[in-house]
Amino acid sequence: MKKRLYLFTDDDRILLIPSEEKWSLPDTSLSFAEGVALHDFSPDEAVGRVIAEDGMSNGDLRPCGLRETSRLLPANDYQRAGKAWELLYWSEQTRFCGCCGAPMRWHTAISRVCDSCGQEVWPQLNTAIIVLVHKGDEALLVKAKTFRRDFFGLVAGFVETGESLEECVAREVREETSLLINHIRYFGSQPWPYPLGLMIGFHADYVSGKVTFADGELKDGRFFRRDSLPMHDDGSLAIPGPESMARRLIDDWMSNI
Ligand SMILES: [Zn+2]
Repeated sequence: MKKRLYLFTDDDRILLIPSEEKWSLPDTSLSFAEGVALHDFSPDEAVGRVIAEDGMSNGDLRPCGLRETSRLLPANDYQRAGKAWELLYWSEQTRFCGCCGAPMRWHTAISRVCDSCGQEVWPQLNTAIIVLVHKGDEALLVKAKTFRRDFFGLVAGFVETGESLEECVAREVREETSLLINHIRYFGSQPWPYPLGLMIGFHADYVSGKVTFADGELKDGRFFRRDSLPMHDDGSLAIPGPESMARRLIDDWMSNI
């Protein structure tokens, strides 16, 4: 039976078959894949790392960044590609046992085991929150120093040990902007394979404070009205792309007038 292949290059891009209409994923009918170590993570799906000498000259395939893939593949294929990437990334981070240092190997589709001491491990997701803070009919949008492109997003951050999701939301807003918030409410979640995470979205309400960038992660941040969102010079909206939880939160706010 042919298996769908999620093949990643040595610079972490995924190989796709380009098409005028919808791009697609390769399968095991490709001969070059024979030299690649594949991990089967479902009955009809496998992931592997392709290095140049494995046959990257195959002209039918194009390497694409995983985020870009969200616009090229059907939604479910993009999500499965993210899962494949997370398993590959994690397996490369767990080549040796954290307890005894011996090599580890795949044990089940989603776990690895050490044959020396028996330690079995599963992927540990990096859990992150992202929050849209409401102040009347305005929303807080921020610009982080780490954003690779010039746009406004939402306050976000990683959950720490010993902390609830709601505590994390309040802490991140306070640390990054000095604002106090309440009425924190769950919106939704999504896999966030950059590189191995879960993004959990919230709405919350402004209580008090003036925006200041206390911990230095942000370089701008303001409350925006729906009819005055940040724009690029070409007239397009300077907000996150549709694949992101930030955009889903902003779209939800936009649609709830
Ligand atoms: Zn061990």
